[in-house]
Amino acid sequence: MATDLRLPSTRIVRPEKDTFLDEANPFEAMMSRFDRAAQLLDLEPGIYKVLRHPEKQITVSVPVTMDNGELEVFTGFRVLYNTVRGPAKGGIRFDLQVTLEEVKALAAWMTWKCAVVNIPFGGSKGGVICDPAKMSIGELERLTRRYTAGIIHTLGPDSDVPAPDVNTNERVMAWVMDTYSMHHRHTVTAVVTGKPVEMGGSLGRREATGRGCMIVTKEALRHLGMKVAGTTVAVQGFGNVGSVAAQLLAREGCRIRAIGDRTGAFYDKDGIDVDAAIAHVQQHKSLEGFAGGDPMTNDELLTCDVDVLVPAALENVITSKNAASIQAKIVCEGANGPTTAGADSILDEKEVFVIPDILANAGGVTVSYFEWVQDRGGYFWSEDTVNERLTDIMRRSFADVLRHSTQHKVNMRTAAYMTAISRVATVHRLRGIYA
Ligand code: NAD
Repeated sequence: MATDLRLPSTRIVRPEKDTFLDEANPFEAMMSRFDRAAQLLDLEPGIYKVLRHPEKQITVSVPVTMDNGELEVFTGFRVLYNTVRGPAKGGIRFDLQVTLEEVKALAAWMTWKCAVVNIPFGGSKGGVICDPAKMSIGELERLTRRYTAGIIHTLGPDSDVPAPDVNTNERVMAWVMDTYSMHHRHTVTAVVTGKPVEMGGSLGRREATGRGCMIVTKEALRHLGMKVAGTTVAVQGFGNVGSVAAQLLAREGCRIRAIGDRTGAFYDKDGIDVDAAIAHVQQHKSLEGFAGGDPMTNDELLTCDVDVLVPAALENVITSKNAASIQAKIVCEGANGPTTAGADSILDEKEVFVIPDILANAGGVTVSYFEWVQDRGGYFWSEDTVNERLTDIMRRSFADVLRHSTQHKVNMRTAAYMTAISRVATVHRLRGIYA
């Protein structure tokens, strides 16, 4: 008798729950949103099981000679979550908090993010448990090179392409690229993205995530029938993502009423001079002492009187405690996981239009994809070309997610997961299972 592959979705959801972290964790929150989307898509149990399991998990011991001559052994991970749509793509982080569970969840996150913007990548992530703040440049270079050597069989432009993440940067990517290239006896620029522009990096990569936020915010305003000019905005976080998003939205005619970083926040009803704030941060390393607005707390920033709120700093800042007080009509999630699952339903009730992280901040991975394409072609694009193509992809992805949202009568977050999961699942069905 044929097996019924389409069990009711309630029977298939969350059998692997205990391989992930608890509910309070943003990564578990992400997987529970995945589950909801899978349920709505009525995903067949077999594909559900495949998508709930990482393809490959690597743990390596990384011996490093420290500057004092002693040998230290670090632990590193690389997880390839799913590569059915193309080479795995995902950052490498150096942090004491790195765990295999977290790396697995972040690799899954990358899988959905690449699928939602429809770029031909799967998802991966890597990390080494270490405290880079306590290591010299020489120790960090040796750690990077030995970790790269440990995972070298998985790396490659056609198999797994790392990028910078927490506590890693262009310099670390240059070491990864060099180590890989030495092993392969020729220069392979496309093995990592987020490289310095001088050695195969892409123009526009630094601004890409903030630019992506600006593009989808404009799409959301248009969808809601609101004008861009004069729209009021608050941005939490004034680093790579937040400062660029604020600057580009201001250039489009928005009034940036509030900005903030880890040292505090500032408010000006008539609009903050974002360029002056960026110049202040360049000089003083933070917004502390900025004179272009009235000081306020980061909590006040989240609930101030604006049309658009861009959380671009940390996870879990919009919670069931403050969601009811949020005045913004649009929330554009520049950060990963800024909204808890508890806050989601409150924002839904208030009819706040949330542009979810896997769509809102996918501009970064999109230009990483452009970097990989340029490296493989050996032909580099102008910054205008990069920005034009980024705009196309972000607009199209916004429209795809909005279509799912309208069709299935779900919010944009669930729609984004549905868009991503159905793309990954379709390729699994077409390819079949290699036996
Ligand atoms: P960043 O380190 O450049 O900036 C982070 C900013 O947040 C800083 O201004 C910092 O002062 C501020 N901040 C830290 N703690 C804060 C606090 N408690 N309250 C208020 N502000 C605080 O980092 P980034 O690259 O801009 O990344 C920000 C977020 O966007 C992260 O969640 C990151 O994972 C996500 N993201 C970044 C990229 C990218 O391309 N950089 C891509 C996708 C997602």
